[in-house]
Amino acid sequence: MKYHLKTLGCAKNTVDSWRMESALRSSGHVPSFDKQEADLLLVNTCGFIDEASTESLEAIRDLDSNRRKDQQLWVAGCLTQIASERVKKEIPGVDHTFGVEEWDSIAMKLGPSQEKYDIPDATMPGASVSAYLKVSDGCDRPCTFCIIPKIKGQMKSGDQQRLLSEAKMHAYAGAKELVLIAQDTTAFGEDTKDNDGLAHLLEALSEAVPEVPWIRLMYAYPGKVTPRLAEAMSRLPNIVPYVDMPLQHGSDATLRRMKRPSLRKANQSLELLTKEMPEIALRTTFIVGFPGETESEFSELLDFIEEWKFDHIGAFSYSPQEGTPAFSHEGFVDSAVVADRYSRLMMLAQDISSSRTKELVGKRVEVLIESEEPGENIEGDLFSIGRSFRDAPEVDGMAFVKGVFKSGELVPTMVKGALPYDLLCYPV
Ligand code: SF4
Repeated sequence: MKYHLKTLGCAKNTVDSWRMESALRSSGHVPSFDKQEADLLLVNTCGFIDEASTESLEAIRDLDSNRRKDQQLWVAGCLTQIASERVKKEIPGVDHTFGVEEWDSIAMKLGPSQEKYDIPDATMPGASVSAYLKVSDGCDRPCTFCIIPKIKGQMKSGDQQRLLSEAKMHAYAGAKELVLIAQDTTAFGEDTKDNDGLAHLLEALSEAVPEVPWIRLMYAYPGKVTPRLAEAMSRLPNIVPYVDMPLQHGSDATLRRMKRPSLRKANQSLELLTKEMPEIALRTTFIVGFPGETESEFSELLDFIEEWKFDHIGAFSYSPQEGTPAFSHEGFVDSAVVADRYSRLMMLAQDISSSRTKELVGKRVEVLIESEEPGENIEGDLFSIGRSFRDAPEVDGMAFVKGVFKSGELVPTMVKGALPYDLLCYPV
């Protein structure tokens, strides 16, 4: 059978889709990029916030209204985990729904393929220069604004041997970067009472795939960076000095209402990381306009940002999620105030990002080339597109390298110019 898979949401969902595809391919089914040619239309949904649910529903509706009568429509993932009835009610044409982590059930329901296809690579769908490695799933943290623990359930660390095999498969398929993701990567090992589980995993990965020059850490939890983890990151040759640590706010009063770790804990983690790796690039995200956020709490957030001068900041305006404790919090902040605070925060974030980028001018950085195309034409010269260690795929900036290089090449360069988020580099 030919399937057409549509994936919505975050990188964690992308990894889930790879797992779903691995199960389908092992049963002899093959992907079809053209939905008209597929026998089965599959959607891996996101239900993290209202906007994401709406986007997922629209994608399902679109497939439903344009499909042939003999095409099946199956829907899986976060949205169907929490709102399967809603999906079936709003789009009655959906043939089957599945929750999260039911990838094997999908393949089992389909059974082995009746057709024989030529499958070039049944092991690693979605092979690319940069690959995500999901180290755990689920979350036990109490953040009052977040629906994820309800969708995903308790945190469960991935099996280390399986993760190492996955990493080796990505390396074999040509990946030059592994990006470690989870709801909270620093929770890895907590369910097996190993408080340095992530440090141990990084050591094992570093040894298992020495041919992968970059291993990057996303979604660390404030207060959960241990001295051992910071030390391992600085010692291991292929762990890039980069961390994404969503901090959510810079005022203790707001953090208490969010049931997030205190500023003391956040500072502790940031200090450990910057002490071990002074060159580290820090990425974080903040929520603006959480219920009860006063102007002085917001000013504390701006002061915190000024103090740490984060390389990359993502911000979200608070959006109430039914089913979360914060949904019934009092003190909703007026939307015009939220919009004003959001733009003030983003202006500050851009100023800081821009000055952090300028600090790199005149320094040497390696750039991992990602473009398949010959290059960007900048004022008559061809430039290849890639990223430096300080930029994670999809969320951060880019590096333009003078000349034409192949995708996957790691090019030593000198930074000659800086845009607010991007670098202009010349090979050395
Ligand atoms: S740590 Fe992240 S995934 Fe877990 S509850 Fe908090 S915001 Fe949600």
